[in-house]
Amino acid sequence: MSAVLNGLYINGVWRAGHDVLDVINPATEATLAQVNLGDASAVSEAVGAASAAFPDWSKSTGRDRAALLRKIAEGVSAQREHLMHLQSSNNGKPLFEAGIDVDDVIATFEYYAGVADEMDASRDRPVALPTEDFSARVRREPCGVVGLIVPWNFPMVTTAWKLAPALAAGCCVVLKPSEVTPLAELELARIIASVGLPAGVFNLVCGTGLAVGAPMAADPRIAKISFTGSNAVGVQVMQRAAETVKGVSLELGGKSSLLVLADADLDLAVELACGGGFFNAGQMCSATSRVLVADELADEFLTRLQARAESIRVADPFAEDVEMGALVNRAQYQRVQGHIERGVQAGAKLLCGGGRPVDLPHGYFIRPTVFTEVPLDSALWNEEIFGPVLCVRSFTSEAEAVALANDSEFGLVASVLSSNLEAAERVANALQVGLVWINAPQVIFPQTAWGGYKQSSIGRELGPWGLQAFQEIKHVIRAV
Ligand code: NAD
Repeated sequence: MSAVLNGLYINGVWRAGHDVLDVINPATEATLAQVNLGDASAVSEAVGAASAAFPDWSKSTGRDRAALLRKIAEGVSAQREHLMHLQSSNNGKPLFEAGIDVDDVIATFEYYAGVADEMDASRDRPVALPTEDFSARVRREPCGVVGLIVPWNFPMVTTAWKLAPALAAGCCVVLKPSEVTPLAELELARIIASVGLPAGVFNLVCGTGLAVGAPMAADPRIAKISFTGSNAVGVQVMQRAAETVKGVSLELGGKSSLLVLADADLDLAVELACGGGFFNAGQMCSATSRVLVADELADEFLTRLQARAESIRVADPFAEDVEMGALVNRAQYQRVQGHIERGVQAGAKLLCGGGRPVDLPHGYFIRPTVFTEVPLDSALWNEEIFGPVLCVRSFTSEAEAVALANDSEFGLVASVLSSNLEAAERVANALQVGLVWINAPQVIFPQTAWGGYKQSSIGRELGPWGLQAFQEIKHVIRAV
């Protein structure tokens, strides 16, 4: 094991923190590295450095910021293999999934470089008024120092979705990665630190939620917190932020549906059900963990789904033919196993999976799991499980399918499968979610928004909406 990694980057300097944390490889349960963590005093210093850097950085040109964002994208590209390796080792996801993550990070920084390039020309826009006595312009300005708090399921990706637009907007940043998965985030931070950003524009404080995240949410010098994580913590962040009337963007949980209409392609339906349930070992806010199948297809669909789920190769993230890796840590493994056990107790029928693969005695592995006959009032049907667990239910009408999908406190995403595109579009319009895929896997583009309805989100990330989350609007009205 190598030396303890510095977990603080404040005002352009890498530093050690106070407590030391073991970083675990979830596939082997071995300690991968140690990182030292910050506390409230480190947060205070980081916010101080960001506040001092803000006046100059906020006046920099979009073109200059674009050049730096492009350099970050290039730096990530150059380190692609290394970052993939760190991501898989620390998170447990297969190497090919880590490659998708790194490519997403590159695409996000490139996209916001393009957005920043165009900002100089569009920063001030005239506003049409119903009089010639006055003229008006609207101006977008960076909202200030922002705090970014991210989870462990897509390290680097969630960071990029916040950091790239924040820097493009001209904000200064304090970033807190998840203490569970700091390794790839630290390497990403090293790349960011190498591109020539002025000291204090980008600061990193590794640490636990209570020692670092909570003081960030409370600090009156932070104008906005952008948080991705669980609903329970999102509520706490919002409550703390309320004391200083801070802006919050929240990306929280989901309980999303995949709807297989009567004329769907069954092979595609099975592949997309497995993708929506088992990618990243199901640890996705966007997991389509409710699968709703037209009654007439249900028996054949279940037969094929069971066969495919049982054939999925669960293995070490670096194994050549791996399809699904490990869950992120012991706590998450136990949490998912608890959900499975309570589901069985609640009367749901376990079709396949439900435990660890026999050939993997170590590591936090769970076989792809499928339940049927899941009671509508059970936790299994209603709560986010965040593991490789699908619940399948049949429906007899389009209206019933839509009602089942919408009957949730969440509203993040949905997938619709049908060869009748008119029906698929009609269903997409009726779903109370932020993103619908039709006959498509869960592709995400930096140009399209990420976020949902109800308790899944406040605000949207990506696209122009992701930038606006870090901007204030100012109108200037002048007598002519
Ligand atoms: P979590 O809420 O436990 O932690 C998220 C982050 O918040 C971590 O960095 C953690 O250290 C920090 N934190 C913990 N307590 C805090 C506090 N009191 N104040 C401030 N910060 C605190 O979530 P997790 O277990 O890391 O991630 C899983 C959750 O994230 C799931 O619920 C999932 O749905 C959600 N998620 C949502 C999206 C989305 O885009 N909607 C994406 C990924 C994950």
